[in-house]
Amino acid sequence: MKTYRVAVLAGDGIGPELVRVTIPILRLASYLYGFELIFEEALVGGTAIEATGKALPPETLEICKRSQAIFFGAVGGKQWESLPPEKQPERAALLPLRKTFSLFANLRPVTCYPELIEASPLKPEIASGVDLLIVRELTGGIYFGQPKGRVLTEQGERAIDTLVYDTSEIERVATVAFEIALRRKKSLTLIDKANVLESSLLWRKTVKEIAKNYPEVELKFMYVDNAAMQLVLKPTQFDVLLCENLFGDILSDEAAGIAGSLGLLASASIGSTKFGLYEPAGGSAPDIAGKGIANPIAQILSGALMFEYSFQEEEAAQAIKDAIRDVLKDGYRTMDIAKGSSTYCTTEEFAEKVAQKLEANFKKKKQQES
Ligand code: NAD
Repeated sequence: MKTYRVAVLAGDGIGPELVRVTIPILRLASYLYGFELIFEEALVGGTAIEATGKALPPETLEICKRSQAIFFGAVGGKQWESLPPEKQPERAALLPLRKTFSLFANLRPVTCYPELIEASPLKPEIASGVDLLIVRELTGGIYFGQPKGRVLTEQGERAIDTLVYDTSEIERVATVAFEIALRRKKSLTLIDKANVLESSLLWRKTVKEIAKNYPEVELKFMYVDNAAMQLVLKPTQFDVLLCENLFGDILSDEAAGIAGSLGLLASASIGSTKFGLYEPAGGSAPDIAGKGIANPIAQILSGALMFEYSFQEEEAAQAIKDAIRDVLKDGYRTMDIAKGSSTYCTTEEFAEKVAQKLEANFKKKKQQES
């Protein structure tokens, strides 16, 4: 039987409660679809700082290295905000993980479920049918470019950030984006600022070259300011959006807003191998942690992304997505998306419904096949 090792890094805030209810769903899906998962838990974030003094202890990194994927909850919280920036949970845990495993592409799918159309702040006729995916370059650009820092000049302080990209950094993330577009609606939009930025011109040139290997994919270009507007005016025009780091950071949060709750959106950070880090798009949500009200959909969808991108278990991934959709169709909602006649569920109850639906759908499918 195919076996996959997964490092489970639940972290802080709502991370542990979401991971705890999601693992049984992933186990069930693996059992139904004929593969085995070996989970190994490890400390990360503030919880790890309390226990070991480090947000990413060496033992955690070792566990990640002997795994094929990292299933991540969230890190951070008020307790650790006063630490120096380089010691804070997000920076001291996520950045080294991205670096160690060369996770240069961040994928964020945004889907508006018809059943949740009223959760979107957009008008139903605009949000209806949104199904897009943002591919954000994650390890280069202005966040990492050198020189960086502050210097004193005769006029006062000067702050410097450098936006720099090499062709090879663009090629590898563009290839990921084209491969994804091939499996979707075969449309890719490069988001840039080619009217003012030299780096954007290099992005255009490089992406046009890569596009020659993907003649089936329609390539479009859009300035980032226009893209920010188009995302709220007509988000259904997009399939895959390819963005450099800073533009992707901003646009992916804007796109998250379209869905209506951070509890609905998963994300994957991948590189050139099958290894990936899978986590909800949101953070540790200290305001609702421990109350049993967090929405587990994003965490469960992160598991589906892991099945799809790291294990190529597409059938199991689709079954999980279908089960979530069916539970929503039946009217069950966590507090963040509850409205009108929906039946309110706790985090745990919603996850149990998803597991029940997953099993029922599988049995129904087997009966139909026999
Ligand atoms: P957040 O994403 O944690 O919360 C923003 C809002 O969304 C809150 O109102 C929260 O209740 C809500 N929310 C988030 N996930 C939800 C869910 N599953 N169900 C229902 N509602 C949900 O962002 P924040 O408040 O800015 O940050 C809180 C902490 O998380 C900070 O310490 C921040 O550094 C950290 N953070 C971590 C990550 C990560 O681990 N990758 C990402 C972003 C923020």
